[in-house]
Amino acid sequence: MSADTRPAVIRQFPCLDDNFGVLFHVPESTSGPGGTIAFDVPDADPYKQVLKETGWTLTDILVTHHHWDHVQGLEKLKADTGARVTGPALSRDRIGGLDAVVEDGDEVTAAGIAFKAIGTPGHTLDQISWWAPELSFAHTGDTLFSLGCGRIFEGDPTMMWTSLEKLMRLLPPATDIYCGHEYTLSNARFARTVDPDNAALKERVAEVERLREQGLPTLPTTMARERATNPFLRAGDAAIRSRLHLEDASDAEVFAEIRRRKDTF
Ligand code: ZN
Ligand code: FE
Repeated sequence: MSADTRPAVIRQFPCLDDNFGVLFHVPESTSGPGGTIAFDVPDADPYKQVLKETGWTLTDILVTHHHWDHVQGLEKLKADTGARVTGPALSRDRIGGLDAVVEDGDEVTAAGIAFKAIGTPGHTLDQISWWAPELSFAHTGDTLFSLGCGRIFEGDPTMMWTSLEKLMRLLPPATDIYCGHEYTLSNARFARTVDPDNAALKERVAEVERLREQGLPTLPTTMARERATNPFLRAGDAAIRSRLHLEDASDAEVFAEIRRRKDTF
């Protein structure tokens, strides 16, 4: 991190049944005006509540994909705050209220911070993961979850695997990962069935059970932790391949089989 990097304050809170709201705030300072970013808007009211509590002024909304549980509250929150909305170019005709659109590889400055738009299609074709390299922050929408990944609705398994590989290639291990849903406990139950001897996974499952019992979130996670425990990132792992009898398959084929099993788990 450079010396003049202003730290962000991040608030994560539940929205709807199992969605997350995420607010990312950069305080005003001598090096810039700062600002506050909402990542997706499942529901406007919880966002307004947190903005009221903190006194933050919303400046930007960054959207990951077009599903209703990510954009439902967007126009209301925009109307109340005047925030600038940036979302996927592929959904320019179906997400209301967009002021700007991005494609894979584009860079956006929000709250004075540089964000990279990483195209990660598979769950939907339009899916964008947002990454701020300077602050070691990423929001992976419904692409990468803790111990899981999004269901493949619009793409195919090879497309989703390519997106996950891209996240593994781009995001350094220490990157904090925020995502769209608190699905970790059910993901953990499935993960154990394909990777039962993984000690790091056992530890993570115990931690997840403890957190959920206490009503606490299991996110954010980190790229390092997901690489060690998330079966959807571990298609190359010898123990998983042998368990699935797919020793000679490609990583994409192993991933497809893990995804297929999860869909019917
Ligand atoms: Zn979705
Ligand atoms: Fe979702």
